[in-house]
Amino acid sequence: MTVITVVQGDITDQHADVIVNAANSSLLGGGGVDGAIHRRGGPEILDACRALRASRYGKGLPTGQAVATVAGRLAARWVVHTVGPVWNASGGDPALLASCYRESLRVADDLGARTVAFPAISTGAYGWPLEDAARIAVETVRSTETAVAEVRFVLFDEAAFTVFAERVHAPRPGG
Ligand code: ADP
Repeated sequence: MTVITVVQGDITDQHADVIVNAANSSLLGGGGVDGAIHRRGGPEILDACRALRASRYGKGLPTGQAVATVAGRLAARWVVHTVGPVWNASGGDPALLASCYRESLRVADDLGARTVAFPAISTGAYGWPLEDAARIAVETVRSTETAVAEVRFVLFDEAAFTVFAERVHAPRPGG
């Protein structure tokens, strides 16, 4: 059984087998979570991302997919990079956001990870409304078959923490 926990904090402070990065398709770094992971994790992660660009992902990592690298100096064994969908004037594709969580857990399972820390993918620069992103994140993790024992949502600010915590702890139909 997978336990879902919610904490407020910086994802780069987490001790977990996997820390998930809200990357962009270039895999070459960006702002938000991506910038923080590369700053704290050091150049080893970027080197691994460059190698992935040169081998499997010449055109970039497609939205909704996930791939692992080393975690450099982070207190994790791996970073799993996933590319969230952008929210725009006509909305966003929820299937792609769900895919980020599902594919990241699949990669984590392949690695034998037991603990996985996720940020709120797509809710920063990519503009996805927080409540909807939290619903998709929690529903997807709950409905994914995985050997991961703990999925930890790590929310940077209090508002995001509250939204995720309410979603995780809300009573569900049928218990
Ligand atoms: P995206 O491009 O997928 O929207 P961002 O990194 O811009 O990704 O933002 C995703 C979420 O992560 C936002 O809610 C943002 O506030 C939050 N965030 C930013 N930095 C950190 C961090 N160091 N740890 C955890 N969450 C963070």
